[in-house]
Amino acid sequence: MTNETILYDTPMPGIARIVLNRPETRNAQDTAFLYALNDAFDRAAHDDEVKVIVLSANGPHFSSGHDLREVDAHGNMRKHATVSTWGGFGKPGAEAQFAREQEIYLGFSERWRNIPKPTMALVHGKVMIGGLMLMWPCDIVIASEDAEFLDHSVAMGVGGAEFFAHPWEMGVRKAKEFLFTADWIGAREAHRLGMLNHVVPRAELESFGLAMAGRIAQKPLFALRLVKQAVNSAQDVQGRVSAMQTSFALHHLAHAHNWLAHGRSVDPGGVMPAIKKHDKAAD
Ligand code: ZN
Repeated sequence: MTNETILYDTPMPGIARIVLNRPETRNAQDTAFLYALNDAFDRAAHDDEVKVIVLSANGPHFSSGHDLREVDAHGNMRKHATVSTWGGFGKPGAEAQFAREQEIYLGFSERWRNIPKPTMALVHGKVMIGGLMLMWPCDIVIASEDAEFLDHSVAMGVGGAEFFAHPWEMGVRKAKEFLFTADWIGAREAHRLGMLNHVVPRAELESFGLAMAGRIAQKPLFALRLVKQAVNSAQDVQGRVSAMQTSFALHHLAHAHNWLAHGRSVDPGGVMPAIKKHDKAAD
């Protein structure tokens, strides 16, 4: 166990399991939660006995996204050793928010995506906006039949989550519909779009995932590392990294606009009822 909000164990030889364990908030991600998750990924990545990293969640939902109720989100950055070379977390204007999101949103998701060993997300219930940024960096994604996915950032006046993998995950045309409408999509639809490897009954999610992880763990780790790099490179030479840097810059133009127009980083008129109570949003 690395932290009470993030659990860590090795359920089978060669497999590390990381469990999101903040069910009372639907696994909302605050600063400490994301650093604890990053520590767990680092622990698994650095353990040569671990070949496959499985990410799952306790509670009714995989993740409701970023914790917009966090008090002094920018100040809390001082409590952690940053993993990137970005700084300026206490700076005025747009700088602090840009630095924070570069480090713990775009930066962490990209970092986890590039861990040189197979990763697998087992998702259930609701996966909202920042929740996608925990799932999409994983190599294999398996969902239970009840899983649903949402990015309502456009409704809040911001163009997509910070790790803008949407066009890669669901294709350009459906990515636009998903973002424009802010409609939920279910597991079957997400599977049809290629966003999921498999959809299984809720009761079988963990056993199905661990069984596949076990088959992967029988392979030589170095070959797994190399083939992951090969597939990731095929995506990256198509411009994924540059496209994400562009979308991240546009995301922050929207944040800056909302601060000027509304005095907060998102458009309060678009905040959906389920999160309206989170009015002290930092992002
Ligand atoms: Zn943001």
